Amino acid sequence: MRFVSTRNERESATFFEAFANGLAPDGGLYVPEELPDLNPDTVSGEAQPYPALAVEFLELFDTDHTPDQVFKLVDKSYSNFTDMATAPLRQLDDKLYVLELFHGPSLAFKDFGLQLVGSLFEDQIRRTGNSINVLGATSGDTGAAAVAGLAGKEGVNVFILYPQGRISDMQERQMTCTGASNIFPIPIQGTFDDCQRLVKTLFMDHEFRDQVRLSAINSINLARMLAQSIYYVHAFTQIPAEKSEQVEFVVPTGNFGNVFAGWMAARMGVPASRFKVATNRNDILHRLFSTGIYEEQPSVSPSYAPSMDIQVASNFERFLYYHVDGNGAEVKRIMERIRTTGRIELPNFSPDTFCSTRSSDEDIIRNIQKVHQNYDYVVDPHTACGFQEIDPEATTVVLATAHPAKFSSTIHKAIGIHPKHPTLERLREKQQVRYELDPDADEIRAFMLLNGLM
Ligand SMILES: *Cc1c(COP(=O)(O)O)cnc(C)c1O
Repeated sequence: MRFVSTRNERESATFFEAFANGLAPDGGLYVPEELPDLNPDTVSGEAQPYPALAVEFLELFDTDHTPDQVFKLVDKSYSNFTDMATAPLRQLDDKLYVLELFHGPSLAFKDFGLQLVGSLFEDQIRRTGNSINVLGATSGDTGAAAVAGLAGKEGVNVFILYPQGRISDMQERQMTCTGASNIFPIPIQGTFDDCQRLVKTLFMDHEFRDQVRLSAINSINLARMLAQSIYYVHAFTQIPAEKSEQVEFVVPTGNFGNVFAGWMAARMGVPASRFKVATNRNDILHRLFSTGIYEEQPSVSPSYAPSMDIQVASNFERFLYYHVDGNGAEVKRIMERIRTTGRIELPNFSPDTFCSTRSSDEDIIRNIQKVHQNYDYVVDPHTACGFQEIDPEATTVVLATAHPAKFSSTIHKAIGIHPKHPTLERLREKQQVRYELDPDADEIRAFMLLNGLM
């Protein structure tokens, strides 16, 4: 299988190249040259154990590794999940299910992508003999999951910028209490956007980038996307046939990565699936799916679901590529238009496989209360956005993207309890290690030259 850029369908890359590059040379995102079909028996037959399904799925795309190597990568990536089912599907009501994606080491769904990315980096380092330095910015969950995927690994140092005082205490502890000497958490005086700007500046410094063999872990990484498609297939195969005539997946959404992965699984043969894009008050995608107009707001507005506080849905470009039938020039034109004006109107934009909702902070609190009252089940503030509007007639799968203990103060506000998780409790006693630096690209560059692997 080869991969093309969303902005230029002519030049293609291998899986190894697409993974190592992150972003395509022309600034586009990598998509598979063509979407393979899933084996119909896989979709309609008996549910397979998660690792077996993951191997079967990834082999379709990663043709650079042998099947045996793919098996080892999968085994390594998911053996430390604490639930036997990896991504258990819990039934709350006759036709209402929750897909629990928070049993990985950082307790959020991002572990599915970043555990695999960690194993793939390790494999790349061994294969090429070159060490790498990973640089990223986080508003909380991505950094925690990246650190969980890379702590202690040979040949890679990880530098993570985060806005000081603007992520939760537990999210900070997940990055600062690893005890691993290859992890460098860097609190920055400023916002998440400031952190991201610094990361971009350093990635644009080509001399530095080559010198430290800079690598990225952001949500546009191809391997993260592929890893996330698998749990949609897995969930579908566990729903009894009499209920799976039409299945609606409800996806708490920020960057559009998770829901795009589901849409891809549907294109590959998961039948009769629809998707509900659940946003918080930062509702650029809700507005898009209700009006066909994609329009950025002047700034993001902090909410109770911070990992969905975005104003640019970076993975949307992949969906756009399919919307314009793989016309790279057209994608390029639209992305350029968005970059310069912050707005685009998409004519004929009424994809019938999508609908959307928006939740204010008050809605989030109310939804946490409602789910607790009706089903004796506690959802985190992101997952709570998924319960904004449930169609009682349809079989519904709400994706639970984080464990409630990660956001215990909001849960307490809603239902008066502080959910706990042993993984987080253990962090409370540990020593925090972090490196305070000025929000200045030169200072961070100098720090990385001193502490990076060369
Ligand atoms: C990252 C994140 C999201 C948003 O996922 P996208 O792929 O960016 O749409 C939702 N919930 C949680 C808990 C997250 O960490």
